[in-house]
Amino acid sequence: MKTLGLIGGMSWESTAIYYRLLNEIVRERLGGLHSAKLLLWSFDFAEIAERQHKGDWQGAGVLLIEAARKLEAGGAEGLLVCTNTMHKLADQVQVAVSIPLIHIADATAVAVKGVGVARPALLATRFTMEEDFYKGRLADKYDLQPVVPDQAGRDMVHRVIYDELCQGIVSAPSKSAYIDEVARLRRDENIDSVIMGCTEITMLIGQADFDIPVFDTTRIHAEAAVAFMLP
Ligand code: GLU
Repeated sequence: MKTLGLIGGMSWESTAIYYRLLNEIVRERLGGLHSAKLLLWSFDFAEIAERQHKGDWQGAGVLLIEAARKLEAGGAEGLLVCTNTMHKLADQVQVAVSIPLIHIADATAVAVKGVGVARPALLATRFTMEEDFYKGRLADKYDLQPVVPDQAGRDMVHRVIYDELCQGIVSAPSKSAYIDEVARLRRDENIDSVIMGCTEITMLIGQADFDIPVFDTTRIHAEAAVAFMLP
């Protein structure tokens, strides 16, 4: 089994889910007492979120590269950045180390293509929904047509991530708001599936809430990581 380095704590609520999933999937594969060989760098998310919201991506990149190098020096053979949003910096992190970074958008796109849908709603942070680093990768590399909510919908989805889910708050009104937003996108934008493009959204909604395919990026990323660890 290869050792995986996790760059997490963004937020720790989803890193904890990654930790459980990685160990569960390794146990499903190998059985008995087997578990995942992991190194974890866990940030104080306040320090990252402040840089995100100030637009200081250069400063955030310095921190991520430092973490990646420490994980590599510590023996990691592959890297997982445990958030969709911070994949904005994935290319910078990848060139700073000599171990492979397992890209969350690539793993997600492969899952979407595998089901045969092409027009997924993308629910995520404002950065992931509005900038091109994620949507563009899905479109250019995989020929998908991701659809994001309108301004009011994006504000709502973003607010719930930072003010609630990343702080461990899971609320019924927010769950309803997400489900209503998907219904609106289905009616007005003809979406055929949903990408939960933020690693905390799995705390709030899931496949059971919808009758179209739902892609849980946290699980998809963890599964891709174990496929790398146990080829
Ligand atoms: N974990 C979230 C994501 O997947 C949001 C927090 C962050 O900005 O890293 O995008």
